[in-house]
Amino acid sequence: MTKICSLPADDQSCGWYHLSKGRQVKPSHQGHTSARWVIVGAGFTGLAAARQLAMHFPDEPILLIEAQEVGFGSSGRNAGFAIDLPHDIGAEDYIGDIATARTTLKLNLSGQSYLKELVERFNIDCQMKHCGKYQAAVETRGIAVLDAYRSGLDKLGQPYEMIEGDDLPGHIGTHFYRKALFTPGTSLIQPSALVKGLADSLPDNVTLYENTPITEVEYGARTVLKHANGSITADKLILTNNAFGMSFGFLKGRMLPVFTYASLTRPMTAQEQAALGGKPYWGLIPADPFGTTVRRTVDNRLLIRNSFSFNPTGRSDQKYLQRFVSRHRASFERRFPMLPDMAFEYTWGGALALSRNHEGYFGELSPNVYGALCCNGLGVTRGTATGKLMADWLAGERDELIDFVLRSPGPSANPPAPLVSLGVNANLMWGQYRAGRES
Ligand SMILES: Cc1cc2nc3c(=O)[nH]c(=O)nc-3n(C[C@H](O)[C@H](O)[C@H](O)COP(=O)(O)OP(=O)(O)OC[C@H]3O[C@@H](n4cnc5c(N)ncnc54)[C@H](O)[C@@H]3O)c2cc1C
Repeated sequence: MTKICSLPADDQSCGWYHLSKGRQVKPSHQGHTSARWVIVGAGFTGLAAARQLAMHFPDEPILLIEAQEVGFGSSGRNAGFAIDLPHDIGAEDYIGDIATARTTLKLNLSGQSYLKELVERFNIDCQMKHCGKYQAAVETRGIAVLDAYRSGLDKLGQPYEMIEGDDLPGHIGTHFYRKALFTPGTSLIQPSALVKGLADSLPDNVTLYENTPITEVEYGARTVLKHANGSITADKLILTNNAFGMSFGFLKGRMLPVFTYASLTRPMTAQEQAALGGKPYWGLIPADPFGTTVRRTVDNRLLIRNSFSFNPTGRSDQKYLQRFVSRHRASFERRFPMLPDMAFEYTWGGALALSRNHEGYFGELSPNVYGALCCNGLGVTRGTATGKLMADWLAGERDELIDFVLRSPGPSANPPAPLVSLGVNANLMWGQYRAGRES
């Protein structure tokens, strides 16, 4: 028997969750049920796996179990970039091995185009915009990153536009940045609205149980999942619960639950929009990975995302929210001095599952237990793609993308505790300090 020692507990203040339409939350599971297919974790990965399994096995029930509400976990609280391009931070030109980069691009595009198709088919109101993204720099180090990535994109044959500082206000209003690399392939979304819409359009043979945290697991020929009000027996269990996969006994000491934080302002008035200028909506990621992500949303709010904390239990911790909101304010003021009175309406945090070698996990964890885990901060497209591929693979399919994700060595081992905490915390502090004005 494996006791699940850590259950998800996200904070209550995610702007995307509160600003997206309310929905009828599905009842929690009660009693005892058996099913051939059971999936734990209803984020982008689990939702895609459930939908695609239902397509392969239309006569079989598929159970999708979620500890919280759909749209409340990390999939509903991210910055909303559905990114197409590979970005290998270990490679000099951020592209690295060209064959790997081409397949990664295909993988990301498969997740992105699946999301687009579903948004259109089910008319999901999630502010999806295919408007590309800016990657922008203010420090000299950041500018060198953009120049290197440009040569990587040339190698990969992908389009981009390099925009100099003087021209940037025409795009994003602010004069803050010295240079930006615009790539047209990213889509922006309101993430909580999207995952809520995906959950409410699942095929009929998928039953979603929300507010059903699994607290114990018994592995064997069939897996028994226990919770406060009953149990579920699975012929085949699929874990799509990101770093919480470690609580289920897998990839222990290989994933790092790192939290990052975001704030969202109230909507700008017409006067404030005029003072800002630039395009009506856009998304910008920092050249320095420890820098600040910024968005102007379709409903004219501004989003700031930066700061990290290592939360080994994978649960939120209020002290970081209080600490980082002032950092968000300082980042906002540096970028938007023309908007002096813009209060933040929401500040929240959410978990990333990172690995030291930036690899995710895809495959069989033990007999009849499978996992698509560790999205390394790219779960919108990557989680969607791997969830769907998991279902295809379990239905007996093989193709280039399945072979690619199966070939991954998976997340590498972390140093033992307490070294891992010391190492990650030191790394996060140093990275955030080094980001300088880009933070
Ligand atoms: C502030 C922020 C900004 C980000 N920005 C981006 C971005 O712009 N683009 C991008 O691609 N990614 C981004 N990410 C990362 C992205 O959110 C994740 O990679 C993505 O959510 C992973 O999806 P997933 O479905 O694999 O896992 P999750 O979304 O974490 O879903 C797993 C689910 O499993 C459930 N669960 C866990 N344990 C149990 C249990 N015992 N019983 C039942 N259910 C359980 C959890 O409640 C959770 O809902 C960001 C993350 C944050 C926090």
